[in-house]
Amino acid sequence: MRKNIVAGNWKMNNDLAETMELLGHLKSQLVKEPDAEVYVAPSFTNLYNTFQCLKETPVKVAAQNMHYAKNGAYTGEVSASMLKSIGVETVILGHSERRALFNETDEMLAKKVTTAIENEMTVIFCFGEVLKDRKAEKHFEVVKEQLENGIFHVSKAAWKNIILAYEPVWAIGTGETASPEQAQEVHAYVRKIVGEKYDEQTAQDVSILYGGSVKPDNAKEIFAKKDVDGGLIGGAALKAIDFLAIVNSF
Ligand code: PEP
Repeated sequence: MRKNIVAGNWKMNNDLAETMELLGHLKSQLVKEPDAEVYVAPSFTNLYNTFQCLKETPVKVAAQNMHYAKNGAYTGEVSASMLKSIGVETVILGHSERRALFNETDEMLAKKVTTAIENEMTVIFCFGEVLKDRKAEKHFEVVKEQLENGIFHVSKAAWKNIILAYEPVWAIGTGETASPEQAQEVHAYVRKIVGEKYDEQTAQDVSILYGGSVKPDNAKEIFAKKDVDGGLIGGAALKAIDFLAIVNSF
């Protein structure tokens, strides 16, 4: 059975003090048994403290990125074993900002996915079309290619550790949201191609999140769609009250 999931991507925001303050609000306001599995993804420097702070809560901690190599001469990078050594078992891979600003290719992402799965980590795999592709009605094609090249090489067994996140790039941080119907259409398509590549059970079990300007006032309508299992949240995840309102939107 697939789960409802809400994940907050804090991006390059919040120093240590700000992180602890946000965590304090989250902890005090989070209901004991939230309607969704909740993740937060702070910057690397705040991962350890965040993990320690949330240890006794149901909230899970994710990294925003990692390198595919085991270790070695990769200045500035962080490995899977480093993340695991501080308790972090989940990583966001393929975020559009990593793809666009840091030149992460499908090929690199496929290697990162392999490394994460080999290390028994959970992967939140992001994909989505840019505005030009949406306007040219190429979004299905683009999404299929990103999935085929980035993640469809893993075994069927690995899918228990995979969460997909459809994030149309034109809706990220822009205030522009895909309509619930637009999200549903792509999510249903993604579930269909996962089913064709693997099998129907795998397709039914994978959680597919929507990301792109999700806010407390639009979350309910988006999450109500049949194939939308939650959200990956950027801006609205930086305010505990907004983030928790989204968590409680199922
Ligand atoms: C994101 O960066 O993954 C995201 C969805 O951002 P926002 O919610 O701010 O659009």
